Amino acid sequence: MVAPSTETTGYSVPTHEEVLAAIRAGYRAIDDGYGFYPGFNGWLESLGYTRREDVDCTCPDRGYRGHLPECRWMRP
Ligand SMILES: [Zn+2]
Repeated sequence: MVAPSTETTGYSVPTHEEVLAAIRAGYRAIDDGYGFYPGFNGWLESLGYTRREDVDCTCPDRGYRGHLPECRWMRP
């Protein structure tokens, strides 16, 4: 049986501390001229996370007030 593509069981999302560290990396990347997301995304990727386009929003409020930078980032 193949799990549905929106299956997120068994995956973990970044912890609060990891997200804060990634945000700091994003601001450092702005200072370095790369922009926030290259730094933010690169930090999470270095921790083994990937951004899943095939899953539902992982924001605590389901994106009601806009998606968080860490939305849909998860790791097996
Ligand atoms: Zn979201």
